[in-house]
Amino acid sequence: MKIAIMGAMVEEITPLLEKFGHYETTQFADNKFYTLKYKNINLTIAYSKIGKVNAALTAGILINRFGAQKLLFSGVAGAVDEALHIGDLIAASSLAQHDLDITVFGHPYGFVPESKVFIKSDEKLLKIAHETADALGLTLKEGVIATGDQFICDGAKKEWIKETFNASAIEMEGAAVAFVCEALRVPFFILRSISDAADAQAGFDFNEFLQSSSKISADFIAAMLDRMV
Ligand code: SAH
Repeated sequence: MKIAIMGAMVEEITPLLEKFGHYETTQFADNKFYTLKYKNINLTIAYSKIGKVNAALTAGILINRFGAQKLLFSGVAGAVDEALHIGDLIAASSLAQHDLDITVFGHPYGFVPESKVFIKSDEKLLKIAHETADALGLTLKEGVIATGDQFICDGAKKEWIKETFNASAIEMEGAAVAFVCEALRVPFFILRSISDAADAQAGFDFNEFLQSSSKISADFIAAMLDRMV
């Protein structure tokens, strides 16, 4: 079984590279890909660099060049749902691009022509995630994750995204990965741990909690992997 784990920033994958210890590094497309064998899994780990373009490029490479048959994303996000606090875990039930706007042609916000607004996450991986959370005694929330090429640090913008997409969290890569995985028929799972509340404080909170929340997410993904071997 070939599995890929992806983050957007180096902080998001470092806890995983440290956990596994030994890996081979391959350079491709101005990026680094770390491969290793873990039990019966051939694992490739990479961080894409931020944003939808980088995320789509990296997901495509992980699938087409490294043969990933499942893709797990680990990282941090801004909370939209008030019940989500710093360090909480949220798994995407579905994902949408909040900055995609062709509404002038009568389409809803986030609509992708010949496709749709929301891409659903893989049910089997979501089930494994909930089993993992139960076994660890952790709370794993599930909800819509809204993706766009903007760091949201504004209450009004956040409210708009919440109302328009019924979103629980906001980030900058998830929906891009989801669209790539759906097109290439690869089951995916997007996990985020909250780093900020996407409000006026978000820049400060993000810097403060990036490392700790990245680790919470990465540790969960590692535990999930153990249930998949
Ligand atoms: N500090 C970095 C940029 C980080 S951008 C630099 O200077 O290079 C924020 C990253 O964390 C993105 O990968 C995004 O997916 C996630 N994220 C966390 N909080 C977010 C928020 N409030 N809005 C959008 N993305 C957020």
